[in-house]
Amino acid sequence: MIYVTRADRMLIGGELVHARSGEFDESINPATEETIGRVPRGGAEDVDAAIRAAETAWPEWAALTPALRGKSMRAFGEALRARAEEILKVEVADTGNTVTPMRGDVGMAVESLDYYAGLAHEVKGQTIPATYENLHLTVREPYGVVVRIAPFNHPLMFAVARTAAALAAGNAVVVKPPETSPLSAMILAEIAREVLPPGVFNIVTGGGLTVGDALVRHPGVKRIAFIGSPSTGRAIQRAAAEEAVKHVTLELGGKNPLIAFPDTDPQTIADAAVHGMNFAWQGQSCGSTSRLLLHEDIHDRVLELLVEKVKAIRIGDPQDPETGMGPVNSRMQYDKVMSYFEAAKSDGATLMTGARRPEGPLFAKGFWVEPTVYSGVMPGMRIWQEEVFGPILSVGRWKSFEEAVEMANSTEYGLTAAVWSNDINNALRMVRKIRSGHTWVNACSAHYLGVPFGGMKNSGVGREEGIEEMLSYTELKTININLK
Ligand code: NAD
Repeated sequence: MIYVTRADRMLIGGELVHARSGEFDESINPATEETIGRVPRGGAEDVDAAIRAAETAWPEWAALTPALRGKSMRAFGEALRARAEEILKVEVADTGNTVTPMRGDVGMAVESLDYYAGLAHEVKGQTIPATYENLHLTVREPYGVVVRIAPFNHPLMFAVARTAAALAAGNAVVVKPPETSPLSAMILAEIAREVLPPGVFNIVTGGGLTVGDALVRHPGVKRIAFIGSPSTGRAIQRAAAEEAVKHVTLELGGKNPLIAFPDTDPQTIADAAVHGMNFAWQGQSCGSTSRLLLHEDIHDRVLELLVEKVKAIRIGDPQDPETGMGPVNSRMQYDKVMSYFEAAKSDGATLMTGARRPEGPLFAKGFWVEPTVYSGVMPGMRIWQEEVFGPILSVGRWKSFEEAVEMANSTEYGLTAAVWSNDINNALRMVRKIRSGHTWVNACSAHYLGVPFGGMKNSGVGREEGIEEMLSYTELKTININLK
């Protein structure tokens, strides 16, 4: 057995530890189905220890000046950068995502640490002129302990970039990595231990129904931040509400429209549609524009160019910089994608390319599927309505502005939307009508540091990646001072 990393300890209270049970879960490479590492199988006792450690650590952390907290966070970023190549190798082997775009993940984590380190000075309140006789103030205080539960598509990036805001605001964090891609978190544990005060950053690996649920229900936790599927998000809301009043924010799935007007260049739209699908991580991205809504005047030409481009995507070893698409993340993801091929067929969608396992010796094992395009997809079909979280692009056709709006808004999701037009009025009128939290005009896929990201409808609650995220990890305290 060749492990990609020998690191196999969680981080609790500044100590690298195995689970109290002494048990482990193995992690496999989705390209080969080989075991490549192991992580402790955490349980409720480990969760309790991590929460207690965070409870002990946060007051001292919060009492540091913003500048000193920021200094520690930047040191964390530097330490991550020093092991970036090692992390990259492990992350690619453990997720199946291709190496070239994954190179950006450590960079994004470091930039987020740096951004929130600088923003820590902005954790501030207001004076409010309610009465002349009193001085009315607000101050912001950290929740204390913040739990971050992460999905499998960008494990390291989410564990760091999406805890940076909570750290800047003076909280201690407990991270729960995804079951199917947990290995980078074992390296992260070693790094965080070196640079952050004990208990400020904790990692507990294990199952969602065990470790995840115990974290959500723990009486020491009021603030929970989740990235994952809508069904898990709702389970977390339910579990949290059963125990206490908690602040839960949710970044969930999407079935995001890319709407192309007839005044656009077909090649540009075909390129954008492929880019927006994030095939380099097998379409496993919440923000993927997985519904392409083409005006009838450009529909046939865009489809032709698009299919050509998708057929040319090179599937193969995700560690090879030339590879355009790797395997999906797990057996479960593979079965799910395959089930949508069946659904598309029985619903009457027209298959343009893909919908099968690629052939050849490289693909004998592993969770491989071809990038797939369906046309003639209608709002009544499952591949129109449901998030596949895989490499399936559904193409529909529209005639009028109103029809495009109705089609775009016809799912339970509202995460991202991309509108393409050379007429800015058309584009902005469309953006106004669309119920999505993050929209692009003549662009897609990009996230920008400092620009809030999050969903409407069943795509989530709350916004991340900007100052709002940092403030969401604080509670307002009002102070009324009698001046008489
Ligand atoms: P998932 O919901 O299955 O799991 C996410 C995490 O939740 C994992 O760590 C898992 O162990 C944990 N979990 C599972 N059940 C739990 C429970 N009952 N209590 C507490 N924790 C529990 O999601 P996934 O399959 O890992 O990721 C795919 C989903 O994530 C997609 O729906 C995708 O759109 C979404 N996603 C959203 C964003 C965003 O920013 N909006 C980003 C990436 C992924």
